[in-house]
Parts: sequence; structure tokens; C-alpha cells
Amino acid sequence: MDEHIAQILLTQEQIRSRIRELGEILSRDYADKDPVVVGVLKGVVIFFADMVRELKIPCQVDFLCISSYEGTESTGQVRVKMDLSADIRGRHVLILEDIFDTGHSLDFTVTHLLRKQPASLKICTLLDKPARRDPSVTLQADYVGFTVPNAFVVGYGLDYEEHYRNLPYVGVLKPEIYAN
Ligand code: 5GP
Ligand code: MG
Repeated sequence: MDEHIAQILLTQEQIRSRIRELGEILSRDYADKDPVVVGVLKGVVIFFADMVRELKIPCQVDFLCISSYEGTESTGQVRVKMDLSADIRGRHVLILEDIFDTGHSLDFTVTHLLRKQPASLKICTLLDKPARRDPSVTLQADYVGFTVPNAFVVGYGLDYEEHYRNLPYVGVLKPEIYAN
């Protein structure tokens, strides 16, 4: 798999250390709030598992599965494949996402969750790729792990056609892999 990677953007150690920092910030911001931490499947799984273990406060976890992406281009069509199991009405909700790209997925997720009337709703994304943001998306992430350049990245949960999620780092996929 490593031979399909053009460049390692974030090493395992860089990710680990940033998540530790975010953990301190989030543990402070959500102290006494007993938040519901919502992971947006599937790309978030690795980040989610590492991130929640850095929260030194009581919290609940839940998942939402949405789909929008096929190959390397967003289809623009977002839908809920699996909804939350928890009732988040009146609860403090923190969304964990893998990457904030065009913003269509997060925009959809936020609208979907706001209908459930949480007490508060914030976004924590591991990666932010602002160069690709759709101008119609005004949403901003409240917590960002890393800002990344405009390249298609895989690893640490992020896939290309369901592969590479198990790479322990975030890397840029060689364009020839998805060119054909
Ligand atoms: P958005 O709706 O913001 O364009 O995209 C969000 C979703 O698209 C992410 O949750 C992720 O699943 C996928 N995505 C966006 N950019 C990338 C990328 O560079 N690499 C991979 N593997 N997935 C991406
Ligand atoms: Mg995703």
C-alpha cells in the first residue's frame, strides 16, 4: 500500500500529538456538559477511537452514516444511511468528522442534527481542506486538527474506493492510482 502514496502529509506521531492537544481543549470546553460525541461514518472511525480516548470527561458516543462520495469526486447527493440511536434533544452535541472538503456533507449533517433540537452543536474535524470549499457553504469548523492542501488524501480512516483506511498516517495518493 505504501507504494501507492506519493507523500506522507501527517505522520502517526504528528496526529497523535495534535489529538492530545485537542483532547485537552475539548475536555475543558465540555467539562460538566456530558456531550454526545457523534462520529460521521465511515471515514471518522480511526480518528474517533483515538479522539474520544483523549476526552477526560463523561460523554456518550453515537454514530451517523451518510454517503456522498464515489471515487474522488463528490456526487453532491448526500443521504442518511444510518441515523443516530441516541435522543440528542437538549443535549450538547459534538460532531467528529474526518475531513471538511466542499462542505456539502457537513452542511447536510448539521441541518439533519439541528432538526433534533440539541442544546448546542459543534464541529471538530481532523482535516480541513479550505481550498475546496463550496462558496455556498458558510459553515465553519469549531475545532480543526490540521489544514491540508488541495490534494486527495488517504489513510487514518480516509479511503479511496474503500481501501487505504488502515494506513496509520495521512498521505497523498499517487494520481496514477485513480487516473485509470
Ligand atoms: P465534502 O462533503 O466536505 O466535500 O466531503 C466530505 C467527505 O468526502 C469526507 O467526509 C470524506 O469522506 C470525503 N472526502 C473529501 N475529501 C477527501 C479526500 O481528500 N480524501 C478522501 N479519502 N476522502 C475525502
Ligand atoms: Mg466522511
